[in-house]
Amino acid sequence: MSDVKNVIKTVEKREAKVFEMMEPMEHEQVMFFNDKDTGLKGIIAVHNTVLGPSLGGCRIWNYDNESDALWDVLRLSRGMTFKSSISGIDLGGGKAVIIGNPKVKRDEAFWRRFGKFVDSLSGKYITAEDVGTSTDVMSIVMQETKHVTGKPVSAGGAGDPSPSTAYGVFLGLKASVKEYFGSDSLEGKKVAVQGVGHVGHGLVGHLTKAGAKVFITDINTANLEATAKEFKVTVVGSHEIYDLDVDVYSPCALGATVNSDTISTLRCSVIAGAANNQLADENIHGHMLMDKGILFAPDFLINAGGVINCYREVHNLSEEETKAHIENIYQRTLDIFKKSKEEKIPTQEAAIILALERIEKQKAISK
Ligand code: NAD
Repeated sequence: MSDVKNVIKTVEKREAKVFEMMEPMEHEQVMFFNDKDTGLKGIIAVHNTVLGPSLGGCRIWNYDNESDALWDVLRLSRGMTFKSSISGIDLGGGKAVIIGNPKVKRDEAFWRRFGKFVDSLSGKYITAEDVGTSTDVMSIVMQETKHVTGKPVSAGGAGDPSPSTAYGVFLGLKASVKEYFGSDSLEGKKVAVQGVGHVGHGLVGHLTKAGAKVFITDINTANLEATAKEFKVTVVGSHEIYDLDVDVYSPCALGATVNSDTISTLRCSVIAGAANNQLADENIHGHMLMDKGILFAPDFLINAGGVINCYREVHNLSEEETKAHIENIYQRTLDIFKKSKEEKIPTQEAAIILALERIEKQKAISK
């Protein structure tokens, strides 16, 4: 029997400032969801659907407060819009965040409820895995909605997107090395990889195979040991990674690691990695890197392999077509560097301009 006593549950009126965050970033829709029975609580942000339905992973994180969760989902969904646009795929940008400890295992009811919330958006948002979620989770979510990608291969999906992301990052990193050093050979190049989870581990595999001298760090000892066991690498401490005398710094953990503090200590020539939103402040840190002569490969450009793998499920692409899309990352990275040099603007800005141009063109056609 449900509790029929305290049925009047309300709170005092208080100030909410969601539009103050949504408007400047131009989000179309934000959905907050809450389910008392399963304890599910989160936000889905739909940034832009001009090129197609919004797609982006579902992240579980122990946010300190709701504002942090909202800020994260708004920034990540906007990044997804740019990522799909610049990759030439017909998807918009969206993202989901669930507030909670990523280490806690959730039951089927929890994920089915999430699937129902996704379904309530009728395809305007398509979900996938991200930090804290997996193909196993997507196989439960798919029982409640067809708007889900990153499903297990056994369930007809394209599987974990991380290997595709790692391959794309590797190609973007190679293009960056070519731009800076004149050759894309990684033989003997020193690369510092921060975070050896799903993507970082795969990236280290590509790098060591190409002859790079790889340094790794991670706060998760099990991941660190697994990568150190499988590949010939040097393990360093988590703070030491910023001070290393290396050619490339590759952030593959969480965002905002390229900030005023780290830029002052970084000794690398190139930054190219998988983490989303690496620049703590796009307006400031792109310019700071330019002034210091560090070449920055925009994250949403080179980490698009995963979303391209998800796109494969939406548009039934063949393996060859998917691979060709991912391999375009190499040339696109070089094109962005050219635009940045010609227009004397940070590479991140050059990439955002190109992504927005495609959206504006599509808007004009659809009018
Ligand atoms: P993951 O959770 O599997 O791996 C992240 C790793 O970073 C973990 O091993 C974690 O312990 C480590 N880490 C966290 N904080 C750290 C710190 N301060 N120092 C060192 N290591 C730290 O995640 P992932 O799927 O490998 O994704 C990595 C990054 O790439 C994330 O920012 C993610 O949003 C982004 N990304 C992933 C994909 C994908 O296909 N998985 C696609 C695009 C972007």
